[in-house]
Amino acid sequence: MANRREFLKGASLLTLGALFSNCAEAQAAPKGGGPLGLQIYSLGPELSANGVAEGLKRIKESGYSYIELAGYRDGKIGQASMAEFKKMADDAGIEIVSSHLNPPTRDYSKDNFEEIKDFWKKATEDHQVLGLQYMVQPGLPNCNSQEDAQFVGEVFNAAGEITKAAGIQFGYHNHNYEFNRLTPGGTEPISFAIRGFRPAEGQPMPKTVEEIFIESTDPSKVIFELDVYWTVMGGQDPVEWINKYADRIQMLHIKDRLILGDSGMMNFPKIFEAFYSHNHKYFFVEIEDTRSGIQFDRVKASADFLNNSGLIKK
Ligand code: MG
Repeated sequence: MANRREFLKGASLLTLGALFSNCAEAQAAPKGGGPLGLQIYSLGPELSANGVAEGLKRIKESGYSYIELAGYRDGKIGQASMAEFKKMADDAGIEIVSSHLNPPTRDYSKDNFEEIKDFWKKATEDHQVLGLQYMVQPGLPNCNSQEDAQFVGEVFNAAGEITKAAGIQFGYHNHNYEFNRLTPGGTEPISFAIRGFRPAEGQPMPKTVEEIFIESTDPSKVIFELDVYWTVMGGQDPVEWINKYADRIQMLHIKDRLILGDSGMMNFPKIFEAFYSHNHKYFFVEIEDTRSGIQFDRVKASADFLNNSGLIKK
């Protein structure tokens, strides 16, 4: 009997020990509470449904502390002037870190190089009032050959020089087509969708558009914002890219099929581990299907997922 009692006593101590050790672990790695960024495109028309000022407050209440803009056009973000938007963000306690914008053409050539530069000059002037750190191009210019992509790299360098003079860092954001491959003198891309593509005997593997952009741009003028979902959809592992181009990929779009974590297809623990290991900071949650009518719910659920994941640095 005594032995049994001793055993039970030991067992309950073990259980208590296990409980305490769990508590200690929970204290060592608290869940929740790191700063989260949101790409405002995620809200679609819901952002302004009750006025943008209210929408920005709701973003803050949903768990986000900073944003990346979308919708710059003719000196405005949607219907708001840059100064009005900045005031509404300040009032909501939201920091504007970045803005997505595209020049008015996807066909880059020597003929319209100056026109594209003029776009970036005007856009930079307009964006200065926001006090932001990044201006990011999310749209892929047409590229059929390696030379086309290298020329786009030159244009990015010029854009980066313009924004840099105003203290703003220029960046490029990918979708999946940046994982198409381009050959020297090529007439069309080799699709990322061709799995297991191999070049002809003795030929080197053609580079992806993203590699050519990274390698043909000046690190002091152009950084990259990797959209991790589109990287996976392009048949690539975002963790490999984050590690391979550790100094160039400085921001992320944290994205899943819809609400973060729901599909199970995204390896967010490894993605954040790699990203933070290179001392980067800013990432933006994004949900691209914006016509649901419940985008705020999805955006909030995605913030909750991250805050409960234990992955986000304070
Ligand atoms: Mg994106």
